[in-house]
Amino acid sequence: MNAEIIAIGSELLTPFRQDTNSLFLTERLNELGVEVRFKTVVGDSLKDLAAVAQIAISRSDIVIFMGGLGPTEDDLTREAVAEALGIELRRDPDIVAALYKRFAARRFTMTDNNKRQADVLAGAEVLHNSNGSAPAQWLATRYQDGERLIMLLPGPPHELKPLFDAECLPRLKRAVPREYIAKRQLKVAMIGESALDARIAPIYTKFPEIQTTILAHAGEVQIHLQSRADSQEEAERRVSVLAEKLEEELEASVFASEGETLEQIVGYYLQMRGETLAIAESCTGGLLAQRITSVAGSSRYFLGGAVVYSNQLKTELAGVSPAIIQEHGAVSKAVALALAEGIRVRTNATLGVGVTGIAGPTGGTPEKPVGLVFIALTDGKLPEVLERRFPGDRERIRLWASMQALDMIRRRLI
Ligand code: ATP
Ligand code: MG
Repeated sequence: MNAEIIAIGSELLTPFRQDTNSLFLTERLNELGVEVRFKTVVGDSLKDLAAVAQIAISRSDIVIFMGGLGPTEDDLTREAVAEALGIELRRDPDIVAALYKRFAARRFTMTDNNKRQADVLAGAEVLHNSNGSAPAQWLATRYQDGERLIMLLPGPPHELKPLFDAECLPRLKRAVPREYIAKRQLKVAMIGESALDARIAPIYTKFPEIQTTILAHAGEVQIHLQSRADSQEEAERRVSVLAEKLEEELEASVFASEGETLEQIVGYYLQMRGETLAIAESCTGGLLAQRITSVAGSSRYFLGGAVVYSNQLKTELAGVSPAIIQEHGAVSKAVALALAEGIRVRTNATLGVGVTGIAGPTGGTPEKPVGLVFIALTDGKLPEVLERRFPGDRERIRLWASMQALDMIRRRLI
């Protein structure tokens, strides 16, 4: 079955508020094997809301509306859905009574507009909202060619979430034929999105029943796979077949198959191989150390490092001779190698990493443009250094550089 989620509220169309409820709902629906095919955010306008409702009801088995159930003039969800379905609203006396009670308990007088919260779609079941005044509604109905499940839920997350779990989930479990979803997330380092797709599209397009989504970040591309089947085993089996084929094609470029981060994988290998790491970084300004230490337990393999921005500190903290800097410039292969070896020796680490580059936006020259980064890795016997020209702004260049350094460590250890 497929679902559609409609978030209602003009504030959700401003830069200040996000629809986060739909992420929660999507997770819950996926667990039942229900795929979310559409999401819409719509303002508090009867015309717009009725139009959106009309389209959703015509194309989706399950339609969840959230928000706009309050007592005020701009709370129009009930009216819009009734209009789209061509059904009546009836005022539920039990809800009116409950509203009076709720107000009396707080010693407030109830104004008449509150009674709008008691308007219920004809044929709908009222779902108790234990954290707010507006009850939710559940309607199973026939629409044109098929059966529809329609839910009206309150917008505030602290009302919606417990209400959905307590009232909607059990009803959905009874109503929805059980399907299972399996997901896999392969992560690939240091390949561009289009280059990657050129290699794997011929493979994944042969598996149309598996949903494949490719998401690119600086230095990392994620391949999300999702399959549906009648049993969890079958769904897992299907997604595994494709995941294995992709891993075969991409070989060592794939660094994670269960969504792990690159720094977690690097930490895992460092620990497994009994290595210790120290780094001297210039243009990444501590980003590399930050990423490595974001992993719990990193003290077992990460000794520390130095942020050596000035030439003086490259010499004082990482032992780079002033003559090397003089001859090659601070951004050079020779300095990257000297940083890696210098910090390794000074800290007694088994592995040393050095990073130097030009993150921009200023400081580039024709010979050494913005984006030029040298990354060196050494164990004292086998030094290696990479020269890279990374695209993007300062932040992305620094991210790419940290990614490249991590991937270099990983490739040495696998
Ligand atoms: P109700 O359905 O309970 O009447 P409402 O639309 O009357 O909801 P609002 O006052 O519009 O309630 O919204 C209450 C709060 O809930 C606001 O802070 C709003 O930003 C938040 N909210 C509404 N919808 C969402 C959503 N989809 N995701 C996250 N927050 C939401
Ligand atoms: Mg609202």
